[in-house]
Amino acid sequence: MNPFVNAMRQLDRAAGILKLSDNIQDILKKPIRVLSARLSVEMDDGETREFQAFRSQYNDARGPFKGGIRYHPGVTEDEVKALSFWMTMKCAVVGLPLGGGKGGIVVDPKKMSEKELERLSRAYVQAFHKYLGPTKDVPAPDVYTNGQIMAWMLDEYEKIIGEHAPGMITGKPLELGGSRGRDTATAQGGAFVLQELMDKLGKKPKKTTVAIQGFGNAGANMAKILHDAGYTVVAVSDSRSGVCAKHGLDITRVLEHKEKTGSLSGFEGADALSNDDLLTLDVDVLIPAALENAITKDNAEKIRAGVILELANGPVTPDADEIFYKKGIICVPDILTNAGGVTVSYFEQVQNAMNYYWTDAEVREKLEKIMVDAFHAVWEKKEKHGVDMRTGAFLLAVDRVASAMRLRGLS
Ligand code: GLU
Repeated sequence: MNPFVNAMRQLDRAAGILKLSDNIQDILKKPIRVLSARLSVEMDDGETREFQAFRSQYNDARGPFKGGIRYHPGVTEDEVKALSFWMTMKCAVVGLPLGGGKGGIVVDPKKMSEKELERLSRAYVQAFHKYLGPTKDVPAPDVYTNGQIMAWMLDEYEKIIGEHAPGMITGKPLELGGSRGRDTATAQGGAFVLQELMDKLGKKPKKTTVAIQGFGNAGANMAKILHDAGYTVVAVSDSRSGVCAKHGLDITRVLEHKEKTGSLSGFEGADALSNDDLLTLDVDVLIPAALENAITKDNAEKIRAGVILELANGPVTPDADEIFYKKGIICVPDILTNAGGVTVSYFEQVQNAMNYYWTDAEVREKLEKIMVDAFHAVWEKKEKHGVDMRTGAFLLAVDRVASAMRLRGLS
């Protein structure tokens, strides 16, 4: 279940329908470069430890490489490559003038102190700074990274180059040139997409039940946004535990409970459930918002939801996709659903370049327009070619990237 192998199956499917030239298809099967470094970091006990770090720069035909940096013990080079390919396609689906990149460090950040994390984040920039910058490659948060980490990375970068360059990284705190709405953008974008789909299906939020796997930035904000919009969120889970209540969870209280206790378990008035059980609940909408390969051919047959909204990157494998397509289960693909995050990252860069900042309402309105337009463009492709939504999204994205490559002289 190598995510890069899965990503290439998705590419091949679209490339076949588009009749892409062999040359362009071959170029799209490899990142332009993968930077790799071992970062030496002084730990609080005085010892020095090494951490493996990557930055995959996949394709920049449409603009500078763009994509987050992940801190996770399970990071591998192939995972980072897959994620950077998906970033390329994601930026193209929503029409951003950006390419795709992704970074990662093999580390369990929960076992690091604040000072150790700071030194690790600065070491990452020291290792790769020559390849980063507002017109080269622009990182952002991803799994287990956040605004504070972006702030350290920005500071390190600006110290090295000797001038301010806020557009070199996004997902920054507001005080350092971040954008309003960036922290909730991935979830908000996904909620706009779900709303469009519900309209197409003639369904109302009030009567719709939802289960969400993953309670990080994407999953927790999604739970809150959908709860506030009137959906019945019946189950949520994080990497350790899950909770479920048939008539809906009060998400504001769930968030308070997690904040207070550090865990979802023990939330009053709800039953405990495992991550596996959450995925097979009888709900209308299932939202995987954690990591890749959550839904594979091994559990796809057991899924009972009618709609799967991929808020994580790569949670559904190609084999599982085929099962869903045959059963008439609609899977709304990651490169559309979770593109709200990078869209507001792009807004952040635009605001940094102007040095003038938008209100929450301005960001929200611009995000809604981009997500709604992208949804309809994907839907149109899907209808025209008689394919699933993922293939529709890839048809749109691959065509846009390939066209930029051709304009640059490739054939
Ligand atoms: N990590 C996010 C993603 O996977 C955001 C990337 C960005 O803002 O550049 O889409």
